[in-house]
Amino acid sequence: MLIILKENYTPDQLDKIKNMVEKHQCEPVVLKGKFSDTINVLGDDTKLDVNLFRQLEGVEEVIRISSPFRLASRKYKKEDTIIKVKNAVFGPNHFVIMGGPCAVESEHQTLTIARAVKKAGALVLRGGAYKARTSPYSFHGLAEEGLKILAHAREETGLPVITEALDQRSLDLVYKYTDIIQIGTRNMQNFALLRDVSKLDKPVMLKRGMSATIDEWLMAAEYILAGGNRNVLLCERGIRSFDAKYTRNVIDLGAIPVVKDLTHLPVVVDPSHGSGRKENVIPMSLASLAVGAHSILVDVHHDAEAALCDGQQALTPPDFEGLINKCEELGKAMKISIRGEKNR
Ligand code: PEP
Ligand code: MN
Repeated sequence: MLIILKENYTPDQLDKIKNMVEKHQCEPVVLKGKFSDTINVLGDDTKLDVNLFRQLEGVEEVIRISSPFRLASRKYKKEDTIIKVKNAVFGPNHFVIMGGPCAVESEHQTLTIARAVKKAGALVLRGGAYKARTSPYSFHGLAEEGLKILAHAREETGLPVITEALDQRSLDLVYKYTDIIQIGTRNMQNFALLRDVSKLDKPVMLKRGMSATIDEWLMAAEYILAGGNRNVLLCERGIRSFDAKYTRNVIDLGAIPVVKDLTHLPVVVDPSHGSGRKENVIPMSLASLAVGAHSILVDVHHDAEAALCDGQQALTPPDFEGLINKCEELGKAMKISIRGEKNR
């Protein structure tokens, strides 16, 4: 149940409403809104009498949403959520291209790639300082040193940064350095971590679990929204199927219009991890734009053969520039800007 508060509710009225919720063994969480605040009622709210709450002073409206992801649902919020990070606008009529190395390997590597993606027209720099790897013997990232390199790249290029927080321990540091917090596919249902990022005031990009249903993905997003963080980006990064010989994962492009119908949150596609193969990245990026995604996250490396992580799926800087030009052409036909707020 959601209790929408009147614009001019008083602290006293709020206390009375919260006490009433607590009397029914539920937890009231106040969510601050641009125009009005809302109380999200957590717990088993099935026995709560909607009419009783409607009569309380300070209450504008009480709604029950049958969908299990109520705050993520379009039934709760009809308008698309727009998330702005510097010049990048994640929302309708924009297609944000994020690019950079899979992993931050060195100052030289990251700065070389950061300059190239900036020159090509990317609006956000990606790069992992904490890497979740399938093998314990693989490169696991430079940790804080990697974050410092990303911060240096941001300073030099002006590009905001997206990087992954792997666990609660790395989250504090990631928060300090990043502009967007990435939650990886393996952590989509790490509910403790989701609760932690829900308390932060930076946008979170939630990757779809590699075997997660759309409902599970949106429920995971709901954890972040329910804790009070409204700035959630959903990222489709490919799901497991029976034939991974050529394409690592199957990019579920059909999920994009479904998720856009079900929720108001912006949707990103990762064609690099989604396909595992550089030859697929440009066609799948264009398909993502065509199918309505708001953004893509692309691996780029200037020396992919020497990459410490996922070199086989990285575009070279010239190929990345070619990708941006192609997106621009397609974007023109669709009346979608890929150059961000400043250059529209
Ligand atoms: C990544 O983007 O660096 C990454 C590890 O992706 P995923 O969590 O989708 O595997
Ligand atoms: Mn990777």
